[in-house]
Amino acid sequence: MTGSAGRKHVVGQYGLVSDSGNAADRFRDPLVRVERFAAEVLVRCPACGECAVVVAHPGAPERRTGHGRLVARRRLSCRACGLSRDDSPSERVFGGPVDPCFRLPLWLQADCCGEILWAYNSEHLDVLESYVAARLRERGVVPGSMSMVERLPAWLKSAKNRSEVLRAVQRLRSSLPAAH
Ligand SMILES: [Zn+2]
Repeated sequence: MTGSAGRKHVVGQYGLVSDSGNAADRFRDPLVRVERFAAEVLVRCPACGECAVVVAHPGAPERRTGHGRLVARRRLSCRACGLSRDDSPSERVFGGPVDPCFRLPLWLQADCCGEILWAYNSEHLDVLESYVAARLRERGVVPGSMSMVERLPAWLKSAKNRSEVLRAVQRLRSSLPAAH
């Protein structure tokens, strides 16, 4: 299956492979903040309801505000209906099932354990899955680094929720459009 080969590559990028060579046994915190995964955010298109994507504006990724602060410009685009919209928010909000810029609902979100499991994109989903599936979880080398993994909620870290979370991850993965 080509999808599974692609995931191994991503997991390898984050150094999640254990000494035994079995990536499922051991997880090492890649020490990546959740903001890092927001480089490409899959959202529900406000026009047609299909999967759209929010990325850095291709022409001018940043602009300065009147106070000289750099603000990232973002572009929402939908292949299904052709919608294209630009925004440069003065503040991006991280940590919930909405796009940090446009505040649109994420494409990858599912009810799980009475909470909402969400991811910005397939790579984010891969790291969540690796973490939840791993039986041995290594702390990052820098405690308090506020990495995405350190900030995961307790329900997602709980061993008793492991199988339900992994099922939700699979549901989300099957909802990904082919291009993502
Ligand atoms: Zn659309």
